[in-house]
Amino acid sequence: MSCGEPHETDCAEVLDHLYEFLDREMPDSDCTKFEVHFEECSPCLEKYGLEQAVKKLVKRCCGQDDVPSDLRAKVMGRIDLIRSEQAAPERDVPTRTGADLPGAAAE
Ligand SMILES: [Zn+2]
Repeated sequence: MSCGEPHETDCAEVLDHLYEFLDREMPDSDCTKFEVHFEECSPCLEKYGLEQAVKKLVKRCCGQDDVPSDLRAKVMGRIDLIRSEQAAPERDVPTRTGADLPGAAAE
C-alpha cells in the first residue's frame, strides 16, 4: 500500500512501526516523522485511523490496551467485509411492482 509519492519516511517503514507509533513507544523525533508522513500519505493515514479505531474499540470492550492478534484479525476482516459490501454496486434488487403482490390479481 502506498500513495506512490516519495516521502522522507517510506510507507513500509511507517506501516512496520505503526503499533509503536500508536502506543507512543518511539522517540518524539520519529513520532514527528510519522505525523508528517500521515499528512502527506492518505493510504497510510487511513490504515493508521483504522488501527486506532480498532485499538479504541478493544479498549472499550476488553478494558485492555493490547489488542489480541486474533481479535484484530476478526475486526479487520469485518471492516473489509463491510467495505466490500459498500463498494459492491446494487445488483438486481428485484423491484416489487404492485402487480406481483399476493391477492393483487384478485381485484
Ligand atoms: Zn504512506
